[in-house]
Order: sequence, then C-alpha cells, then structure tokens
Amino acid sequence: MRLQEKRILISAAAQGIGRASALACAAEGATVTAVDINEEGLASLATENPAIRTHRLDVRERGAIDALADKIGPLDGLFNCAGFVHHGTILDVSEEDWAFSMDLNVTSMYRMTQAFLPGMLERAGEAGSVSVLNMASMASSIKGFVNRAVYGATKAAVIGLTKSIAADFVTQGVRCNALCPGTVDTPSLRGRIASAADPVQAEKDFIARQPMGRLATVNDMTPMILYLLSDESRFVTGQAMLVDGGVTI
Ligand code: NAD
Repeated sequence: MRLQEKRILISAAAQGIGRASALACAAEGATVTAVDINEEGLASLATENPAIRTHRLDVRERGAIDALADKIGPLDGLFNCAGFVHHGTILDVSEEDWAFSMDLNVTSMYRMTQAFLPGMLERAGEAGSVSVLNMASMASSIKGFVNRAVYGATKAAVIGLTKSIAADFVTQGVRCNALCPGTVDTPSLRGRIASAADPVQAEKDFIARQPMGRLATVNDMTPMILYLLSDESRFVTGQAMLVDGGVTI
C-alpha cells in the first residue's frame, strides 16, 4: 500500500475533498487523523471507516491545535484542507469578511504547520520523507475569477506560504506542495449554487467554466493528494499542482 506506516492528519475532513482524502489515505494504509468542526460529519466518517481517528478541531484555535499536536505526536503528512469561499468583488468584502477568510484560509495553515512541523522534522530524520500539503485553488495567483476577490487573495497567499516552507526545509526531508483544484462538486459548492439568485443558471455557469463540460468529483482530486502525501512524490516540492480539467490550458 502506498501510505503504509504514514501518520497523516487532514483538516476539513468531515465532508468534501478532505473527507474523500481521509478515506483514500486510510485505504492506502495510512493512520489517519481527521479533524473538523463538524462533529456530525466526523461521526459519520468514523462509521464509514472505524480505523480513521476523528477529533473536533477548529483550525482557528491556536491552543486547541497545540494541544492536539502534543496529544497525537509526530506526523508524516499534514493536509491543510480547511478553507472558505467568499462570493464577491473587492467592493463587496467587508473588513470582517476579509479578516475571516484570511484567518481560515491562510493563518490556519501557519498555525497548523507551526504546531506540527517540529514533529514532522523528527520523523523526516527517521524516515527521510515527510509532506505538507496545502489546499490552494486555480482561483489564486494562477488565474482570476469573477467574485473571488478575497478568496483569490487567500489562495495566492497559500501558494506563497507553500513555496517558502518548501525552500526553508528542502534540505531537512520535508516537502511542501499546494493543490489547485478546478470546480469540485462538494457540499459547499452545492450551497453556493443553492444560494445564488438563479440556482439553475449558477450551476450552468460553474459547469461552463470547466472545458471538459463537467464539474470535478472529489475522486478526481484524491489521486494527486495520495501522490503528494506519498513517497512517490519524493523529488517534488514547492509546486502548485493544478487539477483543473483544463481551465488553465
Ligand atoms: P466543503 O467546503 O464542502 O467543506 C469544508 C469543511 O471544512 C467542512 O466540513 C467544515 O466544517 C470544515 N471547516 C470549516 N471551518 C473550519 C474550521 N475553522 N476548522 C476546521 N474545519 C473547518 O469542502 P470542499 O469544497 O472540499 O473545500 C475544501 C477545500 O478545498 C477548501 O479550502 C476550498 O477552498 C478548497 N477548494 C474547493 C474547491 C471546490 O470547488 N469545492 C475548489 C478549489 C479549492
């Protein structure tokens, strides 16, 4: 199995891409810790695969993150998946919206990585290859999209942070990459469609921006996630990996 003996923590694991990743990593032999603030979702994940350990964790709470890092010990893989999509141009973003998105999408990765990296450096010494994976997006420094002002800014920051971590720890066995998905059919995407003025048109618009004529599924994302968390990608670091169905051709 591709992740045998890997200890991996995944945030935002109660639903969407994070949940699919937790299940895929466990199926490849990893010991998975799945964290989220959605306890109901975590409970159903644990029912689906009882080998997955679940913890309620708000990635905006420094103290809780540090306590979990002490509790569960060193990791081989950290997938910082939590993030929020704000809808609007820069004229629509309040100071509060801006601060919230920056905190959840970017500062949480600073907190999580600062808490877990010391243990990962220990594991890197033993095993030679550990991996941090940060969730970015094609909507970032890579491409601009309408109504994604603060979201695009946060995901561009994620790519910058990813490259800095990669540069700082490249000689110490720690790799750091970012995943940049296209439009993925997840519960929050369904929420964005449902809350649009015209949901039928909104779904058509999301599909229209995908050249393959369909949304991605979460299982279109998991092969790249497994690759980046496994030793198969041992010569890959500091990269923003696009899995976008051709949007950025
Ligand atoms: P989602 O948005 O449906 O679910 C997000 C999960 O994050 C939820 O379970 C929620 O409870 C959890 N969460 C929210 N705040 C949290 C917090 N403070 N601490 C811990 N957990 C928290 O899932 P998704 O659509 O798969 O999105 C996951 C990530 O992928 C996000 O970073 C998103 O920006 C990114 N992304 C999604 C798409 C897409 O089209 N769905 C595209 C590109 C990137």
